[in-house]
Amino acid sequence: MPELPEVQTIRDELANKILNKKIKEVEVKFPGLLNVPAKVFISTITGTEIISIRRRAKLLIFDLSNQWSLLIHLKLTGQLIVAGQPGPGKPHLIYHFSDGSKLTHYDLRKFGYAKLIKTAETAAYLEKENLGPEPLSKDFTLEKFKQLLQTKPKALIKPLLMDQTFLAGIGNIYSQEACFFAKILPTRKAGTLNNREISLLYQGLREILKQAIKYKGSSVDSYVNTAGEEGKYVPELKVYGRGGKQCLNCGEILKQEKINGRGTTWCQKCQK
Ligand SMILES: [Zn+2]
Repeated sequence: MPELPEVQTIRDELANKILNKKIKEVEVKFPGLLNVPAKVFISTITGTEIISIRRRAKLLIFDLSNQWSLLIHLKLTGQLIVAGQPGPGKPHLIYHFSDGSKLTHYDLRKFGYAKLIKTAETAAYLEKENLGPEPLSKDFTLEKFKQLLQTKPKALIKPLLMDQTFLAGIGNIYSQEACFFAKILPTRKAGTLNNREISLLYQGLREILKQAIKYKGSSVDSYVNTAGEEGKYVPELKVYGRGGKQCLNCGEILKQEKINGRGTTWCQKCQK
């Protein structure tokens, strides 16, 4: 599933490619992604301009010039491809712009969505999702992270990092990488982390997410950027997907097991 760096990459690219463009026509090939009937979707969107593109957690928010907003969640297999590039499989939604370009939304497994809500209601919508802080925001300080961890002393650290109500945008990839960076086992309870480990985890989260954005994300499954290209961060991953291979730090064979149902890789020697 695309995580913060992947969704941020898509947001940044779309801001360059489609911001301020006018939507001339919308083709709804699969209405199942929508929260309103296709007819309403089409009539609300057609003729509007995209005036801003935002990201909150793994959600993309397109604010339109008529005070409606389009919320797109890619979930497991969603892809947003800008015209000119061949897309995978069948398109589910196609937005045609007045300059002849287009944005195509694919969602092979159809777990994602494209919802229309009033722009004025987006804040309330996000409030309801009860999302944790953005790890790259200015408000997310080390002190804040410490306080948050104190609220969940018994939680296992890796699944806790993936909990969207605890921290926004982190999933199975970057939670593992952050634990490796901080040299802590993914099964450590949050309340057992000392100050040094908390600092390292905080630093690791921020540095890894920033680097991953720079590399345009990790294409571990169906994630591609808006040009249909894979992200370049996979070769930088230290533990994710490397179970049975050697630890890049000490040479030990990396262990892989399920933790709360999700495959997790770590080094038994480096991580305590
Ligand atoms: Zn190691």
